[in-house]
Amino acid sequence: MLGQMQDSPLLVSQLIDFAAKVYPSQTITTKTVEGELHQYTFKESAKRSKQLAQALLRLGLGEGDVVATMAWNTYRHYECWYGISGIGAVLHTVNPRLFAEQLVYIINHAEDQYIMVDLTFVPLLESIQDLLPSVKGYIFLTDEAHMPETVLKNVHCYETLLAQEDGDMEWPSLDESQASSLCYTSGTTGNPKGVIYSHRSSVLHSWAVCAKSGMGLDASESVLPIVPMFHANAWGLVYATAMAGSRVVLPGPHLDGANICQLINEQKIDFTAAVPTVWTMLLNYLETTGNTIDCLQSVIIGGSAVPRAMIETFEQKYGVEVWQAWGMTELSPLGTINKPQAQHREWDYQRQLDVKVKQGRAVFGIDMTIMDDEGNELAHDGVAFGRLMVKGPWVVDGYFKSKNTALDDNGWFDTGDVATIDASGNMQITDRSKDVIKSGGEWISSIDLENAAMGHPEVLEAAVIGVHHPKWEERPLMIVVPKTPATPPSAEAISEFLTSRVAKWWLPDAIEIVKEIPHTATGKINKVALRTQFKDYVLSTNTEMA
Ligand code: ADP
Repeated sequence: MLGQMQDSPLLVSQLIDFAAKVYPSQTITTKTVEGELHQYTFKESAKRSKQLAQALLRLGLGEGDVVATMAWNTYRHYECWYGISGIGAVLHTVNPRLFAEQLVYIINHAEDQYIMVDLTFVPLLESIQDLLPSVKGYIFLTDEAHMPETVLKNVHCYETLLAQEDGDMEWPSLDESQASSLCYTSGTTGNPKGVIYSHRSSVLHSWAVCAKSGMGLDASESVLPIVPMFHANAWGLVYATAMAGSRVVLPGPHLDGANICQLINEQKIDFTAAVPTVWTMLLNYLETTGNTIDCLQSVIIGGSAVPRAMIETFEQKYGVEVWQAWGMTELSPLGTINKPQAQHREWDYQRQLDVKVKQGRAVFGIDMTIMDDEGNELAHDGVAFGRLMVKGPWVVDGYFKSKNTALDDNGWFDTGDVATIDASGNMQITDRSKDVIKSGGEWISSIDLENAAMGHPEVLEAAVIGVHHPKWEERPLMIVVPKTPATPPSAEAISEFLTSRVAKWWLPDAIEIVKEIPHTATGKINKVALRTQFKDYVLSTNTEMA
């Protein structure tokens, strides 16, 4: 027997239409590239998204054409997300922090037809334009008054294009399984791989993000998405803020501690989201200036493991609740979120922290398990660790233009992460499979070691890599950036600090104090670069593993 309910396709254009109709006066505020604040409403945003759609159609673009953006989090970029996908074209969010060769690779692989670009990235495109045969033209995300001289060919001004259109159109009704957008993994090894989302997967994912058991967005809150729109879909926040009718504040390129602190306080932000490196900068700024962030209620931290000390500082010193999230480009990106269960609130705080450092429970829609190398499922007992496998309607099926499935025979996607899952369903990443340190046949979690070191009051950042050891195959080398470079802690002091926090045989064989640790284009510690930097590092051979 069939149900007799209405059926209509799930399309991302419905999100901005909904926001315009139901929350017409809710505002989107941007700290623009130029530095001043711009503010308008969802109603205006929806109209301008349609003006953009009309302009793109006039340029000859339509269903299936890939249109790239290289832009900060701004109201114009927000419009691009709807204007491009709304007409059935495919929004390709390009990460401008990638190396030039990677940019050339992904723009050509995606066959981008046009690139919509913030002025910041124009010189970058000028340097590679001869290598981009598919690109027919460029749209500069600015007004006529700010149009620069450029050697790029076939350049349009965004505001001029919009001014020629009236925004009086209905979004086309598309098949919900059509592609809405495209995002490449940052490809730390090999070439980046494209993940091509559908309208349906994007809308379903948005519901998961908005749910209270997800990020819990609603119209009463001011949301500051710091995670860039070019990194893993800004964790779904462009669509979710429209779905929830939240007040949106966009930081543009101003991502340093001082600017973020100012935006949080002046715009009375309730909720924000970013990777740990952003929060290291902010917390360091707050500590050195004595500023506070009193209005902020909660923060989502994800992208890499959240150090225990970071959670504790946010919660105990600044009164901001931390929800760790785990996900990846291949998951649109939300997979798990760590929100306390009712009974946890009664626990002693250190016990709560033991749970908060985990990556959390799957959101509805994501099925998750761990497997050994032979594909056997492992116990969910918080001890057994193995490959983290996932399924769900917003998980990748196959990579863009690849004929092969990305799944195993039973439909599981191997995340490349190694994890435990405990009896109450909380998942904890112990490592990325390529970062795990294999020492004498045992595995050492680089994340746990880094986490422990970050608890040292004089440590700003810590990274652990495996280096060759003649007896044990690999041993951990810890690389530390001190909070005050002029008076760094000694390697012995850090080792002493770690002694009571990790198993003795995990203790790093060496600790190097450095000024800076390299980061990837998505703001994570770049372990590939670190491994290259320390590839000839010679360890003493005296380590005892017992
Ligand atoms: P990139 O590799 O380009 O940074 P992603 O953002 O897709 O792309 O990275 C996903 C990976 O980031 C995950 O597979 C996992 O290794 C790591 N990750 C994401 N969130 C967390 C988290 N909360 N804790 C630990 N690792 C995380």
